[in-house]
Amino acid sequence: MSVPVVGVLALQGAFVAHERALRSLGVSTRQIRTPADLANVRGLVMPGGESTTMSKLLDSSGIFDEMDRLLADGFPVFGTCAGMILLAREVLDGRADQRSFGVIDIGVRRNGYGRQVDSFETDIPVQGLSAPFHAVFIRAPKVERVGDGVQVLAQYEGVPVLARQGNVTVASFHPELTADARLHEQFLRHHDLI
Ligand code: GLN
Repeated sequence: MSVPVVGVLALQGAFVAHERALRSLGVSTRQIRTPADLANVRGLVMPGGESTTMSKLLDSSGIFDEMDRLLADGFPVFGTCAGMILLAREVLDGRADQRSFGVIDIGVRRNGYGRQVDSFETDIPVQGLSAPFHAVFIRAPKVERVGDGVQVLAQYEGVPVLARQGNVTVASFHPELTADARLHEQFLRHHDLI
């Protein structure tokens, strides 16, 4: 069987580090910049960056509509930080024209961890991992509501920071910024990609 190709949305943001993590686990990666790039891709990582900018570029590139179709068919996606915002059902403190796919039943507040702690790092226990994960939060979205169908995989101070619903996994933090690829591995294994 050939090695699966996993896409990394490369319109803007922290996509190169995600590619490195995915490749270290034995899959091929492809940078996604046009709808055609999504052909034959078996899953997608949506990186951190700036969700308002990414929303605009998703629209203007035509990727939004293609992804919308794929997501409705159960396409596996892992959204981190800005990627989480773009997948959430409700976005608080977003820009009026900002769009999201609404495929995971959570409400998130952009930059919800507040100015004074814009960025911080902490070790968090994660369901399915035997040792804590070092999580880097950068102007991170804060989850304020979680629907019944959402499985919370990790929390920080009682607030969900890693969650999954069906084909959609989201993290408030940046799992690609440490040398630890266990969350990418968990995503790929969950979808039988490795
Ligand atoms: N605050 C950013 C946004 O609203 C997300 C930050 C990040 O991805 N590191 O999109």
